[in-house]
Amino acid sequence: MFKKVLIANRGEIALRIIRACKEMGIETVAVHSTADASSMAVRMADESVCIGPAQSKDSYLNIPAILSAAALTGADAVHPGYGFLSENAQFARMVEEHGFAFIGPTPEHIEQMGDKVTAKQTVAALGLPVVPGSDGGVDTPEEGLKIAKNMGFPVIIKAASGGGGKGMQVVSDPDDFEERFVRARSEAKANFGDDTVYIEKFLGNPRHIEIQVFGDTHGNAIHLGERDCSIQRRHQKLIEEAPSPILPEDLRDEIGSLAADTIRAMGYRGAGTIEFLYEDGKFYFMEMNTRIQVEHPVTEMITGIDLIAEQIRVAAGEPLTVKKERLRLRGHAMEIRINAEDPDTFTPCPGTITQFHAAGGLGVRFDSAIYNGYTIPPYYDSMIGKLIVHGRNREECIRRMKRAIHETIVSGIKTTLPLHDWILRQDDFLSGDYTIHWLEEQLKNR
Ligand code: ADP
Repeated sequence: MFKKVLIANRGEIALRIIRACKEMGIETVAVHSTADASSMAVRMADESVCIGPAQSKDSYLNIPAILSAAALTGADAVHPGYGFLSENAQFARMVEEHGFAFIGPTPEHIEQMGDKVTAKQTVAALGLPVVPGSDGGVDTPEEGLKIAKNMGFPVIIKAASGGGGKGMQVVSDPDDFEERFVRARSEAKANFGDDTVYIEKFLGNPRHIEIQVFGDTHGNAIHLGERDCSIQRRHQKLIEEAPSPILPEDLRDEIGSLAADTIRAMGYRGAGTIEFLYEDGKFYFMEMNTRIQVEHPVTEMITGIDLIAEQIRVAAGEPLTVKKERLRLRGHAMEIRINAEDPDTFTPCPGTITQFHAAGGLGVRFDSAIYNGYTIPPYYDSMIGKLIVHGRNREECIRRMKRAIHETIVSGIKTTLPLHDWILRQDDFLSGDYTIHWLEEQLKNR
């Protein structure tokens, strides 16, 4: 087992990884920007190294600085968390070339799944159902329009190297196609440095359902059930839960087994998430994330498995401790993402937290790195924490979440807690009857 792990990330996920390491008896190194010198991760880690100025490109994306910190502190492994360099194949490769273990999949798998066109082709060949669309990248608007007309409108134009819900264009009217196509390409180039785009049928009423998968270097591959992440705004998730309120059990077993078979065939190691759209009882693969996800605690709550610890063990060459036969999904879990944003306009509200109290009690978990007097820097993602609850069933879970929201006190800044409180009181949410477009429609009429 590793003696010392360097965490190449910040915020709540850095703290989450430190917690897992502490319980495993592994020393930790936090790397941080100058803006994060007083972060909780820095306080909680055994050692810390400043890797650059506030801007991510100079610090959390600064590969030479991170590798130097690992060498300087004698770390033997690097955990990338999510975001930043977590799905950067070049980073994973350089970590390994410098003699450290990368706590994640091989650079080849990151590369293969990082290109969404290649990813789709790969999993389709292994038997996963995919969203109907262009066979690969589309070069010209003329070619694209032909494909779109054959498929039928509306369509969605997506960046092959895309992520974070950026750069997608939905087109309903063929007359708008050319302009949107050109825009999608230039946004793809600007955001991801790659202007390859592809076209998919735009599904009108889907749910977002994803499967947590895990593989090891001993040929084992399992799935840990699904997460339903259909409450979204601008293609970004706000609430996640497991199990999905609408997925029949036999379909879960079917798609879960298919997902596990897929990563087994790939020889995939570590944690991964296979994301699907689900409509009219059918699954359509969208993409695979080759890292731990923000919403992983939902799965931890219903399985009782520490996914970060499992990632670390697999990276150290140990077999998965989870066996399919012994896996039980217990009760219901839900997570809300708390952002430092105005709950009505969604503009970021960084600033100093003047009062803070975390919710507690049975079945309540608060994953965050904020504290009383903490100043949220303006340079990074606005998510400041996640409130996760577990209950025997969905009803109890929702009641508990409402209670926990009311117990949470974050003063001095605006947060999205009131929005969550509102969502949890809507009949559609309570009945489980909504699609990925539901929240945006509600926000328009609110
Ligand atoms: P990203 O990697 O940027 O998150 P995804 O491919 O995972 O991109 O898509 C993000 C979200 O965009 C999905 O959760 C869904 O809301 C929407 N979306 C993507 N593809 C489609 C599609 N073919 N039809 C309808 N909505 C889609």
